[in-house]
Order: sequence, then structure tokens, then C-alpha cells
Amino acid sequence: MALLDIHLLGSPVLRATAAEIVAVDDATREFIDSLYETMDAAEGVGLAANQVGVTTRVAVIDADGQRFVMVNPKIVLAMGRDKAEEGCLSIPEVYADVTRAAQITLEAQDRDGAAYRLEAGGLVARAIQHEIDHLDGILFLDHLSPLKRQVMVARYRREHRGESLTRSVAPPSSKRS
Ligand code: ZN
Repeated sequence: MALLDIHLLGSPVLRATAAEIVAVDDATREFIDSLYETMDAAEGVGLAANQVGVTTRVAVIDADGQRFVMVNPKIVLAMGRDKAEEGCLSIPEVYADVTRAAQITLEAQDRDGAAYRLEAGGLVARAIQHEIDHLDGILFLDHLSPLKRQVMVARYRREHRGESLTRSVAPPSSKRS
């Protein structure tokens, strides 16, 4: 396991489409462990491979007491609309209301490659949709109106001009409350 650097808005990998994982092997499992470790250290509710510079279809979720990995995830059913505020570990300190499906059915594989199906609502459904978007190179700002997105991206760029396109995450033990 290792803490991985998180890629930030402007890093091209966040716009890449991640590739299907053909076989879930030990290397995949080791990567999944590192994703969990990095998500926990960054205090996120989800983290997708693109966000740590890897373009394979895997993401982890920890929301509302549910903690799971999604390998090759697909939303097979989506119902209703729900609007709530979102943020993203790759776009620090930027928040906006995003409308997404309220209830979804997910199909994915677990860390052993076994297929599973999960019905989700609330924050879990939102986190799943947000992370699958990442695997398709989509960011939550893309769901806003073009004008609102332009304003927020311009402000972010202004505030972060000249900064690195990745950030390292401090291990939990070094954090202060
Ligand atoms: Zn995100």
C-alpha cells in the first residue's frame, strides 16, 4: 500500500477515458488498497483511478457507512432527480450544486473480480455517479451551466496559477484536528 498523489484540475489524466480491467489480479488489489488509503487520508467519500493518474476503471467509495470498491462499474438503472452540493478531491475548495439521478442500480466487480449489483440512493448514489464520471473523464463542474462552469474554472485557475498539477496527501498520523 502507498499514499498516492492526487491529480488536480488541469492535469490531462482527469480528462482521459479509463480502460476496462480485463482480469482483477494481485496488482489490481494492491492498487485498490492504495486507493482506499489515499481516499481515507484525504478524507474523501470516493476516489477514482484517474485522480491518482491511473487510467483503469476502478474507484472506491466510503459514504454513509458503506465502503466498497467498484471495478468496471456500470449504472444499469437510474431514477428520479436530486440536487445537492458536491466537491472533488481534484478541485479543492470548489463546491457547487449538481443534479444527478436520485436512485441507481450499479453493476460492478469486487476486489476478487466477482460481479455484484447494488441499489443505492442519497449520498452513496451521488458518490457512485461522481466516481464513474471520473472514469469517463468527466468532472462535476461539467454538470453546471457553461457560464457558471467558466466562471468557477477561471477563478480556480487564477487562485492556483503556477501551482503543481498534483498534490500529495498527508498520512492520517501526521494530521492535527
Ligand atoms: Zn471527484
